[in-house]
Amino acid sequence: MERDIKKLIEEMTLEEKVGMCSGLDFWHLKGVERLDIPSIMVTDGPHGLRKQAGSADHLGLSDSVPATCFPSAVGLASSWDRELIEEVGVALGEESQAENVGVLLGPGANIKRSPLCGRNFEYFSEDPYLSSEMATSHIKGVQSQGVGTSLKHFAANNQEHRRMSTDAVIDERTLREIYLASFENTVKKSQPWTVMCAYNKVNGEFASENKTLLTDILRDEWGFEGFVVSDWGAVNERVPGLEAGLELEMPANNGLGDNKILEAIKNGNLSEEKLDRAVERLLRIIFMAVDHRKEDASYDKEEHHQLARKVAREGMVLLKNEDDTLPLSKDNKVAVIGALASKPRYQGGGSSHINPTKLENIYEEMQKTASKQSNVTYAQGYHLDSDKLDEQLIEEAKDAAKGSDAAVLFIGLPDRYESEGYDRTHLHIPENQRHLIEEVAKVQPNITVVLSNGAPIEMPWLNQAKAVLEGYLGGQALGGAIADLLYGDANPSGKLAETFPVKLSDNPSYLNFPGEGDKVEYKEGIFVGYRYYDTKEIEPLFPFGYGLSYTSFEYSNLTVSNKEMKDTDTVTVTVKVKNTGHMAGKETIQLYVRDQESTMIRPEKELKGFEKVALQPGEEKTVTFTLDQGAFAYYNVDLKDWHVETGEFDILIGKSSKEIVLKDTINVTSSIELVQQVHRNTNIGDILSNPTLAPLAKELLKEANKDNPLFNMSDDSEGMSDMMEAMMKYLPLRALANFSGGSFTEEMLTDMINQLNEEVKVS
Ligand code: BGC
Repeated sequence: MERDIKKLIEEMTLEEKVGMCSGLDFWHLKGVERLDIPSIMVTDGPHGLRKQAGSADHLGLSDSVPATCFPSAVGLASSWDRELIEEVGVALGEESQAENVGVLLGPGANIKRSPLCGRNFEYFSEDPYLSSEMATSHIKGVQSQGVGTSLKHFAANNQEHRRMSTDAVIDERTLREIYLASFENTVKKSQPWTVMCAYNKVNGEFASENKTLLTDILRDEWGFEGFVVSDWGAVNERVPGLEAGLELEMPANNGLGDNKILEAIKNGNLSEEKLDRAVERLLRIIFMAVDHRKEDASYDKEEHHQLARKVAREGMVLLKNEDDTLPLSKDNKVAVIGALASKPRYQGGGSSHINPTKLENIYEEMQKTASKQSNVTYAQGYHLDSDKLDEQLIEEAKDAAKGSDAAVLFIGLPDRYESEGYDRTHLHIPENQRHLIEEVAKVQPNITVVLSNGAPIEMPWLNQAKAVLEGYLGGQALGGAIADLLYGDANPSGKLAETFPVKLSDNPSYLNFPGEGDKVEYKEGIFVGYRYYDTKEIEPLFPFGYGLSYTSFEYSNLTVSNKEMKDTDTVTVTVKVKNTGHMAGKETIQLYVRDQESTMIRPEKELKGFEKVALQPGEEKTVTFTLDQGAFAYYNVDLKDWHVETGEFDILIGKSSKEIVLKDTINVTSSIELVQQVHRNTNIGDILSNPTLAPLAKELLKEANKDNPLFNMSDDSEGMSDMMEAMMKYLPLRALANFSGGSFTEEMLTDMINQLNEEVKVS
């Protein structure tokens, strides 16, 4: 419906306008009845709907209406499947419509800087490209249903420790290339209706009053058109927040923030135009929600449950499968061991906590899938609410394992180990579970471990398991998904969206996480996740992008459309992938780019493309990637823009970041050659390596040094010997005068600098 929002604002009183900038209660925005401005509802997010009908909280404590609990973001991301995530988004949108929710508070696009972050399960990846692709699909899906999203937590909310007071100190290039990049691509590609600012400070300023983030970057650079909402309670000072670009404070502030805005306007410290601008942005989205409202919306609970099962299957990652231990035979006797098999951990704790429409029991689903129910027996093995060993439970588990052909151990992190609100302090599993693995391994060599956790763990017990399936937090249909995968009714196809280090101290943020007092410095810079492990050559337990299948894939015929390209062009890369095994399966082909030589410090390689394909046995498909400037660029802090350096770039096709199977090289020419002015302290080497300046510089240097015994020029055709060049590389131009014994004067030096700068200008 066409509305004149500006006119509407003219009709509003000052108080009404101010009122729009904070919530009515915990989950509603205010409306203005006399002007037909309705109050809309927002609610968590991100992998299911947490609509609280009764008492409200932001920690997932009070109950909410039943909704489908899809796998947490970590599981969604390890599917590497854009269409599937979009399908989940559509389902979330449908459920929001059915519950009259205007904006779903998610997805979270924060980068997994440390595996310890208590909220990693709610985030997609350690890699900004993968994270932004997943967030984009999620948003497209939800918003296709006429429901808004809230891309969160903008920005640099990478830990729970002191999350409301800590200052994330991040150098500009790192912020741009890693932490903002995850948001940048998402905003540009999907235009979320709202963005939620983070609790923490970023480089000294609260995200909730950070104009650089909320206005200069988000709106002016990236073109964001919606409104910014505070994380629940993230407002520090309301007036600077509004000025910086924070339109909505949530939850209700009981007049506190509103009065401050009113006062500031009345005493001239805040212009009414700024308030009007905020109200305009709010109204635009409110009316978008209203206009897209489907009054009689409903959804098919069973259909969504089945979708949850499909997604869970696609996101689980087969980490190990020695001797083809999996899939299990349906006719074999299997001992299911571990409390997590009957009381599954299927979602994380905190504001994303959902009241599921139903919940599958893993043990029962395995019984249903086996050829006879009695083929599957159960032993508890450990207590979930304590780490203490229970010898009797262990003995029962050993007996069950002894009498079976195989044992499947359900191992993982209980809720108390990992949640929103606090970080982990180590990567261990509970001691009673670790002991259980060791004890069962003594009586049964055929052990499969199925993991339920939201983030990496250390696995000192890995040798005792023949197979490991990373189930993550698989949502309400995880039981069926696990049974499908263990018995081979489905083929595992998930790949890790994060690196599993051998030990916590291998992680690049280890020495600076979670920081000192209220300050955390991101000293590892751009070297986050595989960017660090691969560059530093540190062997991970399981690398980024890794995941096994019951079938095998062969890659061939890498082609690159253009071996010489400008950074304003695009290049098309194709590769053939064949299923060479005996079972239908899916493979995610990953494309990484390596800058062979750079004046900048760059990671060994970076993910720039991925595609997931389904292949029948013997089937072959061609996968196509299109690369543009973004695939080759780094962020240049002087230009305040992305920049490509002219040179050779390797195109690497991999099964994971560690397993690169095909490679080609292309030459990319930059459209912006950085021109540096020459001055007395410019290094001679820098001048000589600049193709524009080198010919003139050589001539001038020869002339300058002709009477200088120290820089004796040889008479080779280039005018300067290699050795001489190497020796002079790190000399500033002024050294020509310093070391000339008076033969090369200051005036001559000035003249030389002028001539070189003329050459720069001409080019
Ligand atoms: C969380 C947000 C959530 C909000 C509302 C906050 O504590 O950080 O992610 O959307 O609460 O529940």
